Amino acid sequence: MLRLRTTDECEEIALEARAEVGLQPEDRLDPKILAEHLAIRVKPLDSYKSTLPGSVQHLTVDARSAFSAVTVYRGRRRLIVYNPAHSSRRHVNTIAHELAHVLLEHEPTKLFDENGHRIWIPGDEAEADYLAGALLVPLSAVVPVMDQVGENLVDSAEHFGVSETLMQHRVWFAEDPAWRRRMVELGGLANGKWGISDELTPRPGVSRSDNHGGEGASLKPPLD
Ligand SMILES: [Zn+2]
Repeated sequence: MLRLRTTDECEEIALEARAEVGLQPEDRLDPKILAEHLAIRVKPLDSYKSTLPGSVQHLTVDARSAFSAVTVYRGRRRLIVYNPAHSSRRHVNTIAHELAHVLLEHEPTKLFDENGHRIWIPGDEAEADYLAGALLVPLSAVVPVMDQVGENLVDSAEHFGVSETLMQHRVWFAEDPAWRRRMVELGGLANGKWGISDELTPRPGVSRSDNHGGEGASLKPPLD
């Protein structure tokens, strides 16, 4: 496995990716535009309604909290399918998380092992969670934007088009370097105390699937 990146490295990757689509750190990122730049198609799950009506009904209505997004790899081609039943701000975070896996060159995996257990690589997920937040709200932009909107969390979240939860996390990281120091080795996030969760509905034939239970990042800074 590749060495896990530090939070500073993730911030650098985020700024480079944003610059490639002409964005300054303070600008709002539309992850679909970054996906297009990376030649990754993005489709809502309900675009498969005619071919997979039962699955679409299940994942968008009956068990819509069970599935956020999946990235399908076919040779060099990649496709992100996301759950349209979630809010638009959750889509933003979900798609950014999937793009983060690609930017970090995480190895695609099967969804399940031979015993039917979910294959989950905690270090990869922690990195992708952190990079998703950095892509959407670069740390270097937090203070300037908060100043611009009068320290208002709701307005700053609106500025970046993200959930208030994610914005709150980014403010915490910007204001208190101690939390980021504790994240220097992102693999440390894998021990569960950061609240990374994964509840998935089995879906065969895909390469990577993520479920993020909230409107914002699934990365939750410790409160102790
Ligand atoms: Zn993931």
